[in-house]
Amino acid sequence: NSVFGNVVRAPEDPILGVTVAYNKDPSPVKLNLGVGAYRTEEGKPLVLNVVRKAEHLLVNDRSRIKEYLPIVGLADFNKLSAKLILGSDSPAIQGNRVTTVQCLSGTGSLRVGAEFLAKHYYQRTIYIPNPTWGNHTKIFTLGGLTVKTYRYYDPVTRGLNIQGLLEDLNSAPSGSIVLLHACAHNPTGVDPTFDQWGQIRQLIRSKNLLPFFDSAYQGFASGNLDKDAESVRMFVSDGGECFIAQSYAKNMGLYGERVGALSIVCRNADVASRVESQLKLVIRPMYSSPPIHGASIVATILKDRNLYNEWTLELKAMADRIITMRKQLFDALSARGTPGNWTHIIKQIGMFTFTGLNTKQVAFMTKEFHIYMTSDGRISMAGLSSRTVPHLADAIHAAVT
Ligand code: PMP
Repeated sequence: NSVFGNVVRAPEDPILGVTVAYNKDPSPVKLNLGVGAYRTEEGKPLVLNVVRKAEHLLVNDRSRIKEYLPIVGLADFNKLSAKLILGSDSPAIQGNRVTTVQCLSGTGSLRVGAEFLAKHYYQRTIYIPNPTWGNHTKIFTLGGLTVKTYRYYDPVTRGLNIQGLLEDLNSAPSGSIVLLHACAHNPTGVDPTFDQWGQIRQLIRSKNLLPFFDSAYQGFASGNLDKDAESVRMFVSDGGECFIAQSYAKNMGLYGERVGALSIVCRNADVASRVESQLKLVIRPMYSSPPIHGASIVATILKDRNLYNEWTLELKAMADRIITMRKQLFDALSARGTPGNWTHIIKQIGMFTFTGLNTKQVAFMTKEFHIYMTSDGRISMAGLSSRTVPHLADAIHAAVT
């Protein structure tokens, strides 16, 4: 008799569970559009050439050792990550008012940020968009914050509900934390325009709300690293404070290496250094210090002009392929005369299309066409190829007619 006999089976993760179901399906035409991971036109996972080069350099560098990193991670990596998101000429960096700590990819960065806020910030409520990446609620709740939502997506226009968003943030208690997707909102693919970001910034600053950016797709949305950081930089250039969680999972294809960073932009250098001292007390009992390999790859690429340029080209190629898939899927549905308006497929930004298909239609497509996606109708465009577009278009057509 096990002392754990009363443990009940937990449900599968709503996103990763899609892959579990996909793996069990013996059909040769099966298609996994669930998890947000880039695939080549041949349907294969991609290791960037520039990552291979960096790893080669690292392996051949006999001076490299395997000692523990400091609690805050690799110093070069942290400096370069802040520069990547804030811009190389950022006055906040020049003023030493940014503290950056290496964390376990985007998820770990969000979690460390949450625990710091729960311990040291007077307002423990965080507002997250509705809908948002499914893990946000759990990360922030377990990190010690109270999670509330603000209106974001309008199913009727399949666009941004800017009115609802501004109303909800306007009625949030002063000081509340606001989670913002820096670009390529997951799962909707709907981002505010530059002007709308301006409105959001004004409201957040005037109500003394605290912005917490989740930047999981820098460079993946537009293909341009600076353009995708515009929202964050707009908030930093007003001199105010904010949190930024960065992930290198998608934009460097380092998913399993778990490389990311948490940056906290503070009012001045003195606050930043005190904040960093407390971040160490959050990290040390959680995992002591972060892993060395992935951060070394990133630092090697970011500090070498040639490797950096090569990375931007490979990144642009990934973003472009996704944009091409949007066009091909849209054209395929138009060619079939599939009922409904599908322009959102080409308007939405980043890795995902929020199709508007409902749970029943998704279940139908899985059962009849072996196409796997999350039940909210989100499909990963990065999992699609010219070869599989017709199959998906057939399935969508059948599901809605
Ligand atoms: N935030 C968002 C919005 C995401 O989509 C993801 C990845 N799916 C993450 C954070 C974190 O991913 P990771 O921990 O792999 O960097």
